[in-house]
Amino acid sequence: MAERVKTLRLILGDQLNHQHSWFKEEQENIRYVFMEMRQETDYVTHHIQKVIGFFSAMREFAAHLKERDHEVIYLKINYKKNKQTLPENLKQIISDYEIEKFEYQLPDEYRLDVQLKDFCRDLTIETEAYDTEHFLTSREDLTNFYKGKKEMTMEYFYRDMRKKYDILMVNTKDPEGGKWNFDKSNRKKWSGKPEIPHERGFRKDVSELLQEVEKAGIKTFGNLDAEKFIWPTSREDSLSVLNYFCKNLLVHFGDFQDALHTEQAYLFHSRLSFALNSKMLHPKEVIDSVIGYWRENKDEIDISQVEGFVRQILGWREYMRGIYWKEMPGYGKSNKLENQNKLPEFYWTANTKMNCLKHSIQQSLDNAYAHHIQRLMITGNYALLTRTHPNEVDAWYLGIYIDAIEWVEITNTRGMSQFADGGIVATKPYVSSGSYINKMSNYCKGCEYDVMKKTGENSCPFNSLYWNFLDDKREFFKDNRRMGMMLNMLDKKSQDELFRIKERANAIIQNPENF
Ligand SMILES: Cc1cc2nc3c(=O)[nH]c(=O)nc-3n(C[C@H](O)[C@H](O)[C@H](O)COP(=O)(O)OP(=O)(O)OC[C@H]3O[C@@H](n4cnc5c(N)ncnc54)[C@H](O)[C@@H]3O)c2cc1C
Ligand code: SF4
Repeated sequence: MAERVKTLRLILGDQLNHQHSWFKEEQENIRYVFMEMRQETDYVTHHIQKVIGFFSAMREFAAHLKERDHEVIYLKINYKKNKQTLPENLKQIISDYEIEKFEYQLPDEYRLDVQLKDFCRDLTIETEAYDTEHFLTSREDLTNFYKGKKEMTMEYFYRDMRKKYDILMVNTKDPEGGKWNFDKSNRKKWSGKPEIPHERGFRKDVSELLQEVEKAGIKTFGNLDAEKFIWPTSREDSLSVLNYFCKNLLVHFGDFQDALHTEQAYLFHSRLSFALNSKMLHPKEVIDSVIGYWRENKDEIDISQVEGFVRQILGWREYMRGIYWKEMPGYGKSNKLENQNKLPEFYWTANTKMNCLKHSIQQSLDNAYAHHIQRLMITGNYALLTRTHPNEVDAWYLGIYIDAIEWVEITNTRGMSQFADGGIVATKPYVSSGSYINKMSNYCKGCEYDVMKKTGENSCPFNSLYWNFLDDKREFFKDNRRMGMMLNMLDKKSQDELFRIKERANAIIQNPENF
């Protein structure tokens, strides 16, 4: 076999895939490079736990490779020769090590994809891009799947994925359990029972890394207990979170998927998104573990819990990635509802009297995490009802959550939550009045506002904001079949009631900090 030329392989912070075929090849003349860079810490203001989570996981993965005798170059954030941008660092390393070939894995972010393509175009040495071997679909699969079809819905894509990967199928055509979707049985409120087991395994001391981040002067927000970092930063940690989920939480995952609670930030959610998005875990191994555990414990765990979970990873996660590559770069600018307002200051402080927002934001600041319904029906709902510019909303979501990487953040935020894409991801806007929040949570019990009141002094702000939104956007949604019933109900309101609704809603929109 011909000797390999001196090769440099780039590993980005969200490419920590232990099982990648790169590491199974003959390693002679190969160097791997990791970089902690200001270009990545500064493109948006991140939660401190997000910066610590990525840097820790990168360091642990680099150490893992070194232990296995791979050649690794690691640029820490304060290393004096670190030029803090990808092209400048790469140029320097290619020259210092007399590199003859540059290789990278295809990035998941459009921004980095463009940057690396531009960089390679200007290089005089050979370059090659590889698949990350992480996703179950290619960048183009979703576009091809929907070619020639009028409507895109996740459900058909998901069913196709089930068939393609033979997941929860009884034969090549029929779904196990007789149904494709058990969503309807997954809508319970949690009121203290069943108990949620709280053992979360490891806690890490990240104090030294925190000092380095502070010394670098990186601007962050949010809270951190540096002696007890709660997120998985190695493959072992990630596998332990997965095992913990299967043994303790899967049994009620579906039932309480949409529930909200003041004291329970995680409920029965898996907390696997960071391990998945950084690629420490592969989506197929997560699905296989969950289904495997269920098969051995069928007398305790119902298929509805399992199907609900599989749909999130095999369905939504891959679907969002497909939408991202189908729609970028235009998607990043979409604002079909022409919303223009700023996000209120209390998104960074949790200082609001609205109990649902106070708890959802405080939990996000404390944990760099909120579960799906908090993101969609509390913070996202409020932002949309108050006509916030999607750029503002995106920047917040991209910064605050440990799992926020643009391909999955923007499709969920701009698309599913803010309807800024005009209906590519969602067939109707995810907005609600206080009654939905009251139905799914205990937030309203401890709130200064009265969820039953629509207008007046202490009425729940979500109530007037909801009807005001429908009235404002009536023209936009007039032909949307799924909005017909709500628009009919709006039409039945008297002029007087509508006036009071709009008066209250506008007072909230103009002075959100007063509420
Ligand atoms: C406005 C908004 C912004 C969001 N931003 C992100 C983000 O930046 N990064 C991110 O990973 N998810 C995002 N989501 C999706 C979802 O909220 C998170 O994946 C989930 O809360 C992560 O927690 P978990 O691991 O405990 O999830 P679980 O509820 O246990 O679900 C299991 C897994 O399914 C996947 N999943 C579930 N829902 C979705 C979804 N809608 N899209 C893609 N994957 C999904 C995730 O990988 C998750 O880890 C967002 C949702 C909304 C409404
Ligand atoms: S009353 Fe309204 S503002 Fe208060 S918690 Fe309930 S939904 Fe939120």
